Amino acid sequence: MNKDKTHAEESKWRCRRCHLDLVVGPVSVAYMGSRFTTDLPHCPSCGMVFVSEEVALGKMADVERILEDK
Ligand SMILES: [Zn+2]
Repeated sequence: MNKDKTHAEESKWRCRRCHLDLVVGPVSVAYMGSRFTTDLPHCPSCGMVFVSEEVALGKMADVERILEDK
C-alpha cells in the first residue's frame, strides 16, 4: 500500500479563476470519441472541470472498462 501525499489535498479544490470551492457532481466528459457523465469536481460558476492525474487515471480506467464491455 502506497499512500501518497496528494490524498490530503483532495478535500479542498478551488477554481483558480473564480476562487470558488469546487463542487463534486455529474459532469459530461468526452473521451476516446465517447461522451459520458461522471462525478468530478467542477466550478459552480464557470463549469471548469478539475481532474487531478490521480482521479483521471482512475476514471479513465473505469471508462475503458465500460467501453470494452459494450
Ligand atoms: Zn470557476
